[in-house]
Formats: sequence, C-alpha cells, structure tokens
Amino acid sequence: MSLHLDSFFSLYAIKKIYLCMKEITMNDQTVICAIATAPGMGAIAVIRLSGKGCIEICDRIFVSPSHKKLVDVLPNTIHFGKIVNKEELIDEVLISVFHAPHSFTGEDSIEISCHGSVYIQQRILQLLISSGARLAAPGEFTQRAFLNGKMDLSQAEAVADLIASTSAATHRLAMSQMRGGFSKELTDLREKLLNFTSMIELELDFSEEDVEFADRSALLQLADSIEKVIARLVHSFNVGNVIKNGVPVAIIGETNAGKSTLLNVLLNEDKAIVSDIHGTTRDVIEDTVNINGITFRFIDTAGIRETNDTIENLGIERTFQKIDQAEIILWMIDATDAPSQIEGLSKKLLPHCEGKHLILTFNKSDLIREEQKEAILFLLTNFPKTDINSIFISAKQHSGTDELQQMLTEAAHLPTITQNDVIVTNVRHHEALSLALEAIHRVQEGLNRNISGDFLAQDIRECIFHLSDIAGEVTNDMVLQNIFQNFCIGK
Ligand code: GDP
Repeated sequence: MSLHLDSFFSLYAIKKIYLCMKEITMNDQTVICAIATAPGMGAIAVIRLSGKGCIEICDRIFVSPSHKKLVDVLPNTIHFGKIVNKEELIDEVLISVFHAPHSFTGEDSIEISCHGSVYIQQRILQLLISSGARLAAPGEFTQRAFLNGKMDLSQAEAVADLIASTSAATHRLAMSQMRGGFSKELTDLREKLLNFTSMIELELDFSEEDVEFADRSALLQLADSIEKVIARLVHSFNVGNVIKNGVPVAIIGETNAGKSTLLNVLLNEDKAIVSDIHGTTRDVIEDTVNINGITFRFIDTAGIRETNDTIENLGIERTFQKIDQAEIILWMIDATDAPSQIEGLSKKLLPHCEGKHLILTFNKSDLIREEQKEAILFLLTNFPKTDINSIFISAKQHSGTDELQQMLTEAAHLPTITQNDVIVTNVRHHEALSLALEAIHRVQEGLNRNISGDFLAQDIRECIFHLSDIAGEVTNDMVLQNIFQNFCIGK
C-alpha cells in the first residue's frame, strides 16, 4: 500500500525546517545569566544562570565554608557560602543547584540568592560574565525551557501572563494555561483531527478499489464535535480578553462634570488633568485598576459639548469611538446642572449605549440640597433607557465612591473562573483558533457537499497547522523571537 505522504508534505516540511532551526538554537549551549528579581533594591535578589558549565562558572567565584565545590554537590540542594572576587568578599549568599533536565530550563541551572543591594547584584553579574557567562536576552530562560521541551509555546506565554497577573482572575487563567489545561485541549483536538485525516488518506489510497473506510456521517459527526470545541475556545476570548486587559469603562459627560477628578480618585493618583477651564481633558486617558478582584480599564474621555475647536472636536470623536468599545458607560453629570446636562446629551449618547451598562453618576452632590436630589430622581422616572443604575457622589470629597465601585463590580458580572476552565486570553492564540475554525467550517461544508477527499484533507491539515502554531510546533522563528522579546530579562 502506498501512503499519501505528499499530502502530508507541506506540514511535514514546515515541521522539519522548524526542527532544524530548533536544533541550531538548541546548540547554543552558552551559559546565560541575569538578575531574576525586580530591578532595584530589595531585601534579597536572585541571579539566575543556565546552560552547560554554569556550575563550573559559579565555582570560580563561590567559596563554601567547607571548600566543597558546587560541581560535587547533589542536585536540588542549597548551599551557603561567599561570593568573592579573588580576595575581595562581595556577599554572603545561598546557591541552589539544579541538574539537567530537572530544572526550569531543562539545563544545568544555578540560582544565587544574594542581598538585594543594586551594587551587589551588579558586581555578581559582572563576575559571572567575566568568568564565562553572558547576559541573557529577554525571555531567554523561558525560551530555553520551551526549546528543551519543558513546556509548549502556549505554556511559555502563560509564564509571562502569570508574572503580569494583577488580579485573582488573571492569575487563575495564567496558572491554568501554564499547567497545561489549554495544551491538553489542543492535543486532544489535534489527535482527533489526525484520526480524521488518516481515515480520509486511507480512503484516497484505495480510491481505485472503491472502498469506503470513512463513513461520511461519522466524519461529519467528528467534524461537528471538533468545531464545537474550537468555537468554544474562540468565543472564550471575549471573556478572556476582558479579564486580562480589564473591563472597559468609558467615563463620559460634559466638560467640568468632574470626570478627571473621579478618575484620579479611582486610580489613586493624579494622572488626568483637573481644572476649571472647560475642555482640559482633550485626549483619551486609559488606566487599569483592580476593584474587588476585577481589573477595570478606565477610559477618561474628552468632555462632550458643541465646540468649534478642531482639536477638541477630534477628542469628542474619539470619545464616541471609545464608548462603542466600552462594556460599561459611566456618565458623569454635574448634579448642580442635571436637567440641562441630561437633556443636552441624551440624544447623542443613548444610541451608543445599546447593550451596555449605563451608570448615571450625579457628581458634586456636596453642592446640592435634598430637594434637588429628589427632583433629579423624579426626572429619571421619565428617562428613555430603563435598565440604568444611578448614584449620587462627590468625587472631590470621596463620598459615594465606594458604592460606585460596588456598582461597577456588579455591572462587570464576569463569570466565575476556576483553574480548570480553558479560556483563551492571548491574541495570537485567538487568531490561530479563528483560522482553525474557518478551516473546520470548510471541512463541514465539504462533507455536506460530498466533495473529494483530497480537498477535505487539505482543510483538515490547515486546521491542524493552526492548532500546532499555538503549541509552537510550526511557529516560525520571527514569531518566536517576538514572543520571547516581550518577556523581561531574567525570565
Ligand atoms: P472634567 O472636565 O469632567 O474632567 O472635570 P474635572 O474633573 O476637571 O473637574 C472640574 C471642576 O469641578 C474642578 O474644579 C473640580 O475640582 C471640580 N469638582 C469635581 N468634582 C467635584 C465634586 O464632587 N464637588 C465639587 N464641589 N467640585 C468638584
């Protein structure tokens, strides 16, 4: 029986080229070193080394009380001693020793825990470099872990996300991805697809003998089940993206309503410009803040009012674009001027608020009396949009702002994520999955139209290709470089 190897060729060839590239990169056996802890002074700092010979390099500058060499100690052990430059004592340190393949990178590795002075960190780094190590490139430790098969690419990317996680939800997602939840789902999908394609290939081999190995309705069922999983992953990005990048909240309203003041209160800093002159916030300011475990991305926008100033008009145009991207719209209204502000903006604004949470925030409540409040509440009974929240606050006096934060948390209503949920958070993964989804849709369509196995095989291969791209099996070098360059040095 002759196998249809040619139909596998493109995928096979790409994989082969990739493996060659991988081998070249893997042959880079140089010892790399970097400070792994955050830049600056701390109680302690950790300096990392990885690569064949890193233990010998460390031995050149390390003296233990018993004068035992690190090359002679057992792996996974920690040793106290001194870092010296000839006679000069630099620091007293603890050194962890790991042997390949049982380390983060899969190579022999060392971690030096020293005192956190910037001077000490730099001196030790310089000594390591003059003893034969070189400074690691950004993400090079994780890149080596990936190249040595310690993790696939999606797990390596999760390492960066884990470090950057700022809320319980982003932490949970990154942790799940790093522990391989997503990788397992991809492996299952690829196995199913390979099964699928082997049935088709077999049928093609015996095409002249009119044997049907692959029952079309069974194939269609398989394609449907694969499509379901890929579609679920693609759609999970909506939630994943919001969790990772923050729930977008547009703060809008007329100039001088107090938008920048509120933003400063929420962000706890003086980022937006606060002034009495109308139209000072001319550009869009964005920042994220963690409220009750949820990341919110606040977008302070230019005040909306009729104006002939071209720069301000541009800002107003961008305001409407931002409103369209937001999930929650926080409409700031100066409570001292509520009726006219509501009247003035409702028409322009409400068409942009469809399907979004609208929070009417009456600011400067410190300047109004109880009867005025009641009049405003009465006004709201005639408000055209019914599903709104409203609140009185004083941004300047920080009153009502805690309640507003609670309202925002409720409006975000994110699903509860567990570490077992597979949710896509990475744009690169989302793009690859979307392409895989398109390919599997073509397979489903082809099966329904009973097209020839050759064409089906082509689309199945494409689907496998895109899924393999996520795991890093067919990912080209440029993309790899790009991914790891975005890591910090020392990771
Ligand atoms: P924006 O144009 O909407 O960003 O408004 P700003 O935040 O720049 O505020 C305009 C003016 O209103 C500033 O002088 C603020 O100090 C003042 N302001 C903001 N919030 C309050 C508030 O709650 N009470 C009072 N009395 N003044 C406020």
